[in-house]
Amino acid sequence: MSTEHPQKQEIDWEEKWQQGNTLWDHGESSPALTALFKNEETKKLIPESGLGLVPGCGSGYDVVFLATKDRHVTGLDFSQTCVKKLHEAHPNAAEKNYDFRCADFFNFEIPVEKYSLAYDYTFLCALEPYLRPAWARRYSEIIAKDGILITLMFPIDDHEGGPPFAVNEQLYRDLLSDHFELLYIKDAVGHASRLGKEKIAIWKKL
Ligand code: SAH
Repeated sequence: MSTEHPQKQEIDWEEKWQQGNTLWDHGESSPALTALFKNEETKKLIPESGLGLVPGCGSGYDVVFLATKDRHVTGLDFSQTCVKKLHEAHPNAAEKNYDFRCADFFNFEIPVEKYSLAYDYTFLCALEPYLRPAWARRYSEIIAKDGILITLMFPIDDHEGGPPFAVNEQLYRDLLSDHFELLYIKDAVGHASRLGKEKIAIWKKL
């Protein structure tokens, strides 16, 4: 199933990838994400099997981290240059139970069983703010009942403009609460340069 794209995005991500203008890239998954899988309280909230999705996956670290023998993970990015690099860097992805697709989050074909896990980091903040309601609607369509959405909220501040566009906890609550129950939220200890500007949350699809 796919929905109409709400409106064309203005930011030229393909150009950024072509020019190597990827300053957001920290070279590894955020320690705030990996910590969720080390902590018994949060680990037990996250389904161990099914299908996972990382929209706007960039260099794909989180896709590799989240894929297990029981969980297939798809990294999605609509920059062709980005996905070409991913395919070159990960020739054996299928064996490790992940893949990368060049597609638009708002308009790509989703599997019948839907996703049991999605991870959103530096994706909401990458979108022009008018797309936020569509972002929330899309997650509500593509995540299975009882499936989990992990949001690493960034950047929590009040600067003007973007990307990254400023976010805050209330924004996520307003966007997601109709379709998701908030199970867990905490100040995040992630990449050092982002300390104090991030919270990590686990949402369950109703
Ligand atoms: N999450 C990655 C990349 C963040 S930059 C990281 O933390 O390193 C945001 C990424 O989202 C870019 O690679 C951009 O190409 C992609 N993107 C933006 N809008 C998208 C859309 N509608 N569908 C798929 N990918 C999108």
